[in-house]
Amino acid sequence: MTTTLPKDKLPLFINGAYVDGRGQLFDDVNPMNGQRILGVTEATADDVDDAVQAAKAALRGPWGKLTDQERSRLLLAIADEIDRRQDDFLKAEIDDTGKPLSLASKIDIPRGAANFRAFADLALRMTGETYEMQTPDGKRALNLISRHPVGVVGVICPWNLPLLLMTWKVAPALACGNTVVVKPSEETPHTATLLGEVMNAVGVPKGVYNVVHGFGPGSAGEALVQHPDVDAITFTGESATGTAIMKDAANLLKPVSFELGGKNPAIVFDDADLDVAIATGLRSVFANTGQVCLCTERIYVHRSLFEAYVEGMVKGAEQLTLGDPWQSTTTTGPLISAEHHAKVKSCVKLAKEEGAELLCGDVPVNMKGEMQNGSYFCPTIAVGLDDNARFCREEVFGPICHIAPFDDDDEAIARANDTEYGLCASIFTNDLNRAHRASAALDVGITWVNNWFLRDLRTPFGGSKRSGIGREGGIYSLEFYTELKNTCLTL
Ligand code: NAD
Repeated sequence: MTTTLPKDKLPLFINGAYVDGRGQLFDDVNPMNGQRILGVTEATADDVDDAVQAAKAALRGPWGKLTDQERSRLLLAIADEIDRRQDDFLKAEIDDTGKPLSLASKIDIPRGAANFRAFADLALRMTGETYEMQTPDGKRALNLISRHPVGVVGVICPWNLPLLLMTWKVAPALACGNTVVVKPSEETPHTATLLGEVMNAVGVPKGVYNVVHGFGPGSAGEALVQHPDVDAITFTGESATGTAIMKDAANLLKPVSFELGGKNPAIVFDDADLDVAIATGLRSVFANTGQVCLCTERIYVHRSLFEAYVEGMVKGAEQLTLGDPWQSTTTTGPLISAEHHAKVKSCVKLAKEEGAELLCGDVPVNMKGEMQNGSYFCPTIAVGLDDNARFCREEVFGPICHIAPFDDDDEAIARANDTEYGLCASIFTNDLNRAHRASAALDVGITWVNNWFLRDLRTPFGGSKRSGIGREGGIYSLEFYTELKNTCLTL
């Protein structure tokens, strides 16, 4: 089956129906060739209000009366329907992002379905607790702790892994009995809209899942955060945007869950398996053209391995194939937009001004045909900068890294920690003691040892410092998506 969505413009999805936003029509652009795919109808504050009211009403409707088992079954049906419509989701995601088919078909779309399966399981594992006590006059009393939905959850998403990151929040929200209003990135509005068809196909009650399109400030994003009937905001995106959203949410004391930016380090210790460190380093720097929040941008290598590691990384980077995302040989797609391309380019220019030596990259890409107008960027490896250089401190979010040598473990860990961010780190060593010591000392939400981006969806995910607030994943999602209630009964 292919989508029944209109070909010329993308509507909002409110109360189980597709409707045009009453705001301006903006362009959804394919970054592979810079061409407009279709127009997207922007939601006004009134449209956002319609979506929020639909979500609020759904809490009191059939959705609010479903058992945990029934909600779990619906989430499994959503996952199956995403699988069944994989080709439609691939087309929508690849057109919006330019990411290679090899990546989207192995990671993005299957993880979209897997998120619903993982949280279908969570819906069945929500337990309460009881505490018995004595009343002052010697009777027994029982405190019954139960979990309840928070209400209407606003879900604000970025463009880098659109379906994956959106469903990572929508699935636990629904598992816990909430309803959602999703604001996808203005760069990648497609898969969130398509998911509306899936919801209807499997019988999710109307109003449970809603989508509003638009931008952040002065548009749908801001209207959603400021809406008094939105009970909580879960957001993935830049740290600076997190600050703006938190200020808005603070006015109404809304709880927030934030997955934010990073400047993630890798450390290659002197006993590391060099082949593993290089192969994993290449993936962690260049996957999705460096546009994964977990991508490595700073690499510290023990001086004894520095030369060989750098040589391996440069050789690997030069073998990456930039090209048409639909070709099986393509490893690397374009950056998300011409605007982001200009940003990454200016960061590399800055690195040179700061004294970096660029070992690869720094040449115009030579794309053919319509891809000439795409946002392709050459994989770039820099060395020679001081840790205080802006290129080593600020998130670039592109196919770049800086590699620096170190002499002892404490120095490497101190340098890895010397950042305002704390999302993740990867370390390479065959010494178990060293791995434990380093992991305990790194100020991050997740440390990978001899691997990267290996994700068990039952584990807590999130960052420390300016990389996030809270953790989502498995039972840890209950903290944010449910409200705890104590009922105290005398017996
Ligand atoms: P962004 O912050 O620019 O935008 C994210 C979303 O927020 C978009 O939907 C945007 O329209 C909306 N928005 C912007 N301003 C807003 C406002 N004032 N109020 C409400 N909504 C607003 O981020 P991006 O450029 O789309 O994504 C890239 C960033 O996301 C990087 O910094 C990356 O590290 C981060 N990221 C983090 C994680 C994680 O799990 N920690 C995952 C993916 C991406």
